[in-house]
Amino acid sequence: MSEIISDPDCLFCRIVAGEIPAERLYEDDEILAFRDVNPQAPFHALIIPRTHIATLNDLQPAQATLAGRLLAVAARIAAEQGFAEAGYRVAMNCNADGGQSVYHIHLHLLAGRQLAWPPG
Ligand code: 5GP
Ligand code: ZN
Repeated sequence: MSEIISDPDCLFCRIVAGEIPAERLYEDDEILAFRDVNPQAPFHALIIPRTHIATLNDLQPAQATLAGRLLAVAARIAAEQGFAEAGYRVAMNCNADGGQSVYHIHLHLLAGRQLAWPPG
């Protein structure tokens, strides 16, 4: 198992630690998924590594498997929630122009309506 790094000032590290409540959907030794508090679709979950990685720019080569597992967990949750066939979107925002507001990487999983493309 890879080392878990935690930032006490990070909102999502605090959710991982259980200091801030969240509606958890999936967890294992590396990954946690929970519902977004401000959903942008009928179903909106966030899939995060337990370890603190601020942005996609900070992902290390040794964390490539972990990054891939975020996608696999997203697909698993989408299937469990019944969205595999209808479809869904996964997205990761990076830094200001990407629209990132929480600096602990997270995959958005959005489903339950027709999603527009291109995104705004
Ligand atoms: P970003 O804008 O960084 O890509 O996405 C951050 C997401 O975190 C937003 O969709 C926002 O609604 C969500 N979020 C912010 N604070 C909380 C919180 O305290 N709990 C949960 N469950 N989601 C949060
Ligand atoms: Zn963090």
